[in-house]
Amino acid sequence: MPGCQFASDNTAGFCPEAWEALAQANTGSMSSYGDDPWTARACGMIRDLFEHDAEIFFVFNGTAANALALAAMCQSYHSILCHEIAHVEADECGAPEFFSNGTKLLLLPGERAKLRPEMIRRAVERRRDIHYPKPRVATVTQATELSTVYSVDELTAIGATCHELGLALHMDGARFANAVASLGVAPRAITWEVGVDVLCLGGTKNGIAVGEAVVFFRKELAAEFAWRCKQAGQLASKMRFLSAPWVGLLENDVWLANARRANAAAARLEAGFRAIPGIEVIGRRDANALFARLPAPIADGLRGRGWRFYDFIGSGGHRFMCSWATTDADVDALLADARAAAGPAA
Ligand SMILES: *Cc1c(COP(=O)(O)O)cnc(C)c1O
Repeated sequence: MPGCQFASDNTAGFCPEAWEALAQANTGSMSSYGDDPWTARACGMIRDLFEHDAEIFFVFNGTAANALALAAMCQSYHSILCHEIAHVEADECGAPEFFSNGTKLLLLPGERAKLRPEMIRRAVERRRDIHYPKPRVATVTQATELSTVYSVDELTAIGATCHELGLALHMDGARFANAVASLGVAPRAITWEVGVDVLCLGGTKNGIAVGEAVVFFRKELAAEFAWRCKQAGQLASKMRFLSAPWVGLLENDVWLANARRANAAAARLEAGFRAIPGIEVIGRRDANALFARLPAPIADGLRGRGWRFYDFIGSGGHRFMCSWATTDADVDALLADARAAAGPAA
């Protein structure tokens, strides 16, 4: 299925460096459940990357990472402020509510899938009575579900507002690497330095097969988190195979090169689409997904040639997601087929 790579960044495989680390970990016997040198090394590398003495846990996927991290900060009578199209709301089948025994998600609107400080403030100050689920956490997605990125200033303002209001700040970083690549800042500059308490750091979409890291910058929030992971079926017994690929990803900044490649592929696609009459690029793109409105003959023509991409119901838009594995040749082949489907005028 040659055209699959634009459906999502999880259609790609392992990047070679992570694959190599996995192979290296496959020697001899080692202690289980995380008490092994690969896990220690991966944790050390994440601490170095963030320049912070964080508490780190490896889990199998992003839904578990988000749901368990949020549950760790909440009682069942609390609420979590999130954007109305956030992954935690729209794509996790109620896992945050389930693992927190009923903590309610309170949905906020916001342009380009971003929360703004004044909306967080309004949501908290609107009601403070005993009848309302008490706001406890705000969660932001970086990069967002619409391929935009929060700036350092935007996050600084959100972090300050949250902490003033007594909220913890959680970041869904399934595409954190793409955000760092887009902004060109140090990882600390968009996390603990601006008040992020917990980050779910994405590995899967960045070039490994399985795994996300839950990074607690405020270590006290991680109390008993290991038990939470175990109960949820998220403690790998052969943990070295979950953690070793992280070493391959983090060594020599492969994570960043992977993210830059994905972002650059989306930029190349954007430039190409803008030059094809009839195709309308939707919104601003900072990261590795491009949203565009394609006339039906072009969209159908691409699908007929085997390309896969998501439709956004209601908006008439389509999403083209690039990964670490998307090459210039892939993008150019898609563009050539789009031009062919557009007809002689293009
Ligand atoms: C992909 C993704 C996740 C993780 O999804 P899983 O399928 O559970 O690994 C989390 N947040 C966002 C924004 C995502 O795009």
